[in-house]
Amino acid sequence: MSALARQHDAVNLSQGFPDFACSVQLREALTKAMNDGLNQYAPMQGILPLRESIVKKTFDLYGKTYNPDTEVTIVPGATIAIFTAIMAVVHEGDEVIIIEPAYDCYVPAVELCGATPVFSGLMFPDFSINWEEIKTLVSSKTKMIIVNSPQNPGTSVMLASDWEKLAEITRDTNIIVISDEVYEHIIFDGIKHQSAHLYEELADRSFIVSSFGKTYHVTGWKTGYIIAKESLMKEFRKVHQYNAFCSFTPAQWAFNTMLQDDSTYLSVSDFYQAKRDLMQNMLSKSGFKILPSRGSYFQLLDYSEISDMNDYEFARKLTIENKIATIPLSSFYHNKKDNKLLRICFAKENDTLQAAANILNHIR
Ligand code: PMP
Repeated sequence: MSALARQHDAVNLSQGFPDFACSVQLREALTKAMNDGLNQYAPMQGILPLRESIVKKTFDLYGKTYNPDTEVTIVPGATIAIFTAIMAVVHEGDEVIIIEPAYDCYVPAVELCGATPVFSGLMFPDFSINWEEIKTLVSSKTKMIIVNSPQNPGTSVMLASDWEKLAEITRDTNIIVISDEVYEHIIFDGIKHQSAHLYEELADRSFIVSSFGKTYHVTGWKTGYIIAKESLMKEFRKVHQYNAFCSFTPAQWAFNTMLQDDSTYLSVSDFYQAKRDLMQNMLSKSGFKILPSRGSYFQLLDYSEISDMNDYEFARKLTIENKIATIPLSSFYHNKKDNKLLRICFAKENDTLQAAANILNHIR
């Protein structure tokens, strides 16, 4: 959709990335690291000061202690962390439960391992997890469940009750959890992010994934981290050592500088909530129905009162004819389920959001 947007000179709210600059402080920290000569391979697990800062941050936020040497690894983005975690523990014949609509990197990694993705759909209209269904999908073959909160593209968040259900369903099993928490600092309306770190029983069987790209508005820097208890991390690093080995060294030093001030990540929710509210207000009289957005930097729009075209065709038409690019939600389902929903990204300058709203308000 981004390629189509460029081709047709459309306002691009499709792919999830900011169109505004990251902070001067972050750019200066990166420049300093490079000028200080910190340009060679980092240790395989990441630079120690950053791992220590992550351990402190995780304790401050979630009260859970980890060993920076054996339980934290810096990775070149959350996508590769998820891929590596799956490669490390999932094998041929295993099943992995994936909750749809889902971020698109989960299924290919599972299939590459020769394992089978088993799908459970988020429930309409609030995109909550269908634990009753998941209970019926768990079998002796289930190796892993992948959860994601705040959820892309559903924009829903897991509550304490969701984690309790997950704990209950997986109790006395060896099922491993990947908790994709890349939007942990983009959560709205005062809701407190419920991390897997908060649930000891699950945290001990989980790979918990975070991304600096989302938090610090630098998706192109592709740097993140993964936390897991030592026995799981040992397996993770066996793959990480050979598929990545390490991630971009100067960025690790720069993010370590940023983590010294917790306001750099604690202010991100308010920043994006203002953009969400602006977008929702500007579209309040449009022909689209605006679904709640509780977290992430995405908003779902229901166009069922405007058109009965399928979402893929409708999104293409909007890009080509109306010059606004969105993502059809069907692209996040293995069976291309069409709910007449489009996902837009509001991680954009307010002028971009205004330009987008002007177009969307004229689509009837
Ligand atoms: N998980 C989810 C849910 C995402 O939305 C994204 C980015 N779109 C990622 C993981 C990947 O993050 P990264 O850019 O750090 O690889």
